[in-house]
Amino acid sequence: MSDDTKPRSHGMKSRSLTRSHGRLAVRPTHKPRELLSETPDIAGAWRAKIITLFPESFPGVLGHSLTGRALQEGKWALETIELRQFGHGKHKDVDDTPAGGGAGMVLRADVVGAAFDAARPGTPMDQNRWPVIYLSPRGKPFTQAMAQNFAKAEGMTLLCGRFEGVDERVLEEYNVQEVSLGDFVLTGGEIAAQALIDAIVRLLPDVLGNADSTVDESHSNGLLEHPQYTRPAEWKDRTIPDVLTSGHHGNVEKWRQKQSEDITKQRRPDMWERHATKDKDS
Ligand code: SAH
Repeated sequence: MSDDTKPRSHGMKSRSLTRSHGRLAVRPTHKPRELLSETPDIAGAWRAKIITLFPESFPGVLGHSLTGRALQEGKWALETIELRQFGHGKHKDVDDTPAGGGAGMVLRADVVGAAFDAARPGTPMDQNRWPVIYLSPRGKPFTQAMAQNFAKAEGMTLLCGRFEGVDERVLEEYNVQEVSLGDFVLTGGEIAAQALIDAIVRLLPDVLGNADSTVDESHSNGLLEHPQYTRPAEWKDRTIPDVLTSGHHGNVEKWRQKQSEDITKQRRPDMWERHATKDKDS
């Protein structure tokens, strides 16, 4: 691999700048095989490899807050593979006009294929251990259940499309799963990739401070979450529901469960239907 075809790793370079805030900074351990590589694998850490025309848009929002800290601590790792380097000719063209005519441009199969080949080293072939994903509005809509499955994998490769999308043949050849962020069209897959990674990384062990918060939240148990409140107790003449300040945990639980059910019924009849049927079946 020549220098400019090497994947770029994020979050590692700044490690020397990590402040320990009075506790030991977590030091990732490198597998010996990787010691000489510029992008060392952190033993056991979940890894994202992202194929994109815009590597500078990563880590983006993932570099902040909990996901950012976890990245710096080596609890997950991020590599970008710049699609442009596999382009053709003087201008490194990555796209061409659609066969059959029509508006826009299509990312070429040979260019995207070369990027998938560059992403391959060190990744298992088994799609359960290492899913290969194309972010696409035609994909299976992303859900919390999918995030939970992806979090159990060793990592994943994500292809961010641009323009009209990608030549179909490369999706077939590399056995790519299409995943959608929702029923709308973005200009590129980068924001969708960041949304997926965010949802996955927060489920990795030790990333969120309080593991319970992923058990009890919207979409984890088939219901939307109850309303939340915090201080001040009164704001613009609005008070916090009495039950929440009563100190009676049983009543708080009951109230939250009821709110959760009412909100789900009202806003997401589709979820409520599934929830009600599941209760009947079990
Ligand atoms: N012509 C395509 C849309 C292309 S949008 C179609 O009609 O299906 C350009 C790129 O943005 C896509 O290749 C994809 O990577 C990304 N994208 C757009 N909408 C998306 C969505 N809802 N979920 C995930 N990725 C999306």
